[in-house]
Amino acid sequence: MPENAIIRGEDVVKEYETGDTVVRALKGIDFGIGPADFVAVVGPSGSGKSTLLNLLGLLDVPTSGTVRLRDEDVATFSDARATRERKRTIGFVFQQFYLIPTLTALENVEMPRMLDRTPKRTRERARTLLERVGLGERLDHYPDELSGGQKQRVAVARALINDPAILLADEPTGNLDRATGDSILDLFDELRAEEDVAVVTVTHDDYVAAAADRVVNLVDGEVRDDEPMATDPGGGA
Ligand code: ADP
Ligand code: MG
Repeated sequence: MPENAIIRGEDVVKEYETGDTVVRALKGIDFGIGPADFVAVVGPSGSGKSTLLNLLGLLDVPTSGTVRLRDEDVATFSDARATRERKRTIGFVFQQFYLIPTLTALENVEMPRMLDRTPKRTRERARTLLERVGLGERLDHYPDELSGGQKQRVAVARALINDPAILLADEPTGNLDRATGDSILDLFDELRAEEDVAVVTVTHDDYVAAAADRVVNLVDGEVRDDEPMATDPGGGA
């Protein structure tokens, strides 16, 4: 577990109540995400992966145990504070990309900052990011003029518009063929090396898990192992 964690969890329990029944989705897990970490979360359907991602994304708080963002208990955050921290710290990437079809690539990347009063800076940053992800020639293309891999690159650029410390990805390669998925992994590597972004990804793809420096294997709400991959000598803390 990294010493200088951006976000860490201790004995984290998450329960959902529906009617008379309580589902214990996470049963007391520990985790820590440090700068530039690459962590893959794997496990069968219903094992708690999305629940964990929601906690890391400050979209939810644990039922018991603590989640700390840079040593502050997130349970003490007001909604406004959680929203602010989420915007400042977290970028989200999804399997379905969720680009807005009526906006160009550049406008999609600008979207999270549309309400900020810095349109010039936002535009420059969006352009730089699209160049960064290899789409400098596609700024004015609409999503349906882009391939799946290109759409995911736009989505990654959008997730980076506020300089997050952590990129949370839910099956980012789930809709991509292997070669395109590999190119997204290469992009993650560059972002970690050059922008110090940590990447936490839920995945069902073995090649993605094999590329991570740690694999969190969730089974029925518990971590079965959280060990460095034996094949990765540069593995995480
Ligand atoms: P995964 O992403 O690994 O498929 P989830 O974290 O989505 O697993 O779900 C873990 C468990 O919690 C499952 O049993 C699921 O049915 C339950 N669960 C998830 N979200 C809710 C919710 N909002 N209300 C009730 N139960 C939920
Ligand atoms: Mg899920």
